[in-house]
Amino acid sequence: MIVMKFGGTSVAGKNEISRAVEIIASRLNKKPVVVVSAMSKVTDLLYKLAEAAASKQTDLCEELMNELRTRHIRTAEDLLEGKAGYLLPAISCVNEICDGLATTVGAVCALGELSDRSKASIVSNGELLSSSIIAHVMNAAGIRTEQVNARDMIITSGDVMNGEPDLASIQDRVPGIIEKAFEGNDAVISQGFISRSKDGVNTVLGRGGSDYSASLIGMAINAEAIEIWTDVDGVLTADPRVVEGALRLSRLSFEEAAEMAHFGAKVLHPQTIEPAVRKNIPICVLNSKNPECEGTLILNDEQIEDGVKSVSFKERILVINMFSTKMINTSGFLSKVFDVFKNNNVSIDLISTTEANISVTCEESPNNIEKVIEELSEFASISIDRDKAQISVIGKNLVNLTGTVQKVFDPIEDTKVYMISQGSSYINLTMVVDRAELKAAVIKIHNSLFN
Ligand code: ADP
Ligand code: ASP
Ligand code: MG
Repeated sequence: MIVMKFGGTSVAGKNEISRAVEIIASRLNKKPVVVVSAMSKVTDLLYKLAEAAASKQTDLCEELMNELRTRHIRTAEDLLEGKAGYLLPAISCVNEICDGLATTVGAVCALGELSDRSKASIVSNGELLSSSIIAHVMNAAGIRTEQVNARDMIITSGDVMNGEPDLASIQDRVPGIIEKAFEGNDAVISQGFISRSKDGVNTVLGRGGSDYSASLIGMAINAEAIEIWTDVDGVLTADPRVVEGALRLSRLSFEEAAEMAHFGAKVLHPQTIEPAVRKNIPICVLNSKNPECEGTLILNDEQIEDGVKSVSFKERILVINMFSTKMINTSGFLSKVFDVFKNNNVSIDLISTTEANISVTCEESPNNIEKVIEELSEFASISIDRDKAQISVIGKNLVNLTGTVQKVFDPIEDTKVYMISQGSSYINLTMVVDRAELKAAVIKIHNSLFN
């Protein structure tokens, strides 16, 4: 079996869905479990809808609901023209999902209050809609397809909007569900992103979470491969929206890919790699607009050569500097600092310390950041650097590559660098710069390393 995940741009409309179905048809001998995202921009619309309902903007809610329903019905009509036997049930699925959503939105509007539970229910509808339509299109194309509800497979705990998958439950449930769904069928389709808690509450895996869903399902069924179909030729040496000449990487290690995703490369959800690593399942990143291209193969570390693989970045970060003379010659100071971050659920990216100083970076505006600063101020003097960004050069065994540091810093000699960090894993060299300088610096570093 293989898992094939299609992202939002790969199911954006009639042409994209037709192409995705052709790609699936070419893999039937591998028993594909297809995982789909919402059609492009639909999840954004649903987040907006949730906020509009919370602030009782009933006209806006109605407008967004109409847009959602019309777009999906039109797409079904375009794809299933002349196939009434498939079109009518597809339209009735769309209407049923939209009616259910309208009821939830109505309830939120009436209350004027949006709980995380209602929000998770609302934003889940994009994947429910896209998967229903695509299931009908696959069946109409002669691919016998069973639809499976991802909420029966992906069980989470913790935060409802950023659920933490319960690996044991997932491992337990998924193989049986998938095996049954394949009885008499050529393919199975399910939704990315959406999940359910153990006590039956609808949850989601966080923005971009469909990659994670695919990898969790792949892990549970011991898939031969996990294919991530997207809108670029694979994982590239940099974000192509910033660096024009970014190059395709033909191979990458799990560790490098995870590091890239954690340090800003939006091509994969940061958690995607972990379930695949557990079962050593290769991940292939492929372009649904250019299926001939062999994409990027993400494999076990031993199969990958040393070398710089990418320049990734995070555009919005905060640097927190702590100064305290109490730190000199005392133990336990760092742990006190980390406790503050941990207790407030703020994740630290980089850290750099001297005798009396600690600097850390984190996302620019996590919840609770004000509280973190207040609590740190009780035992250290704090200064904050705002409008900063972080650039990471990532690759296996960077330390063995003589001249890398020079190639990174020479081209940006006029750029102020506020913090530098190279972990002992030698896979990541990160620096903090002014946000205004970010893009120019990324281009210069990329060109110096790859041209
Ligand atoms: P999908 O909807 O298929 O999940 P995403 O938009 O989440 O697609 O991810 C693909 C996008 O990631 C690409 O269009 C590209 O702009 C962006 N991206 C950022 N960094 C990289 C990178 N290093 N390699 C490839 N794509 C990248
Ligand atoms: N549809 C969800 C999002 O836009 C999940 C995904 O596409 O991966 O965030
Ligand atoms: Mg994505």
